[in-house]
Amino acid sequence: MDDADRAQAYEEMDRAIALRNSLAGEASGEAQIVTADGVVCCDCSAPIGGDRLGIVPKAVRCVGCQEVREAEEKRYE
Ligand SMILES: [Zn+2]
Repeated sequence: MDDADRAQAYEEMDRAIALRNSLAGEASGEAQIVTADGVVCCDCSAPIGGDRLGIVPKAVRCVGCQEVREAEEKRYE
């Protein structure tokens, strides 16, 4: 492995970590809203399904709102 390979490997690792943090909502440090019906989206109050929580246990938003937010964050980069 030469230096260029190594730099690329680190870059991919950074990207994977950043992606995982954003999916988990950890980067924002926001808390989940838990009601009697379960976890709800902090933007639109829609229930967050158990299948999504199975993949992203700390999700604070439904898939739709998370996508909107990520698109907005990209725009400000
Ligand atoms: Zn939502």
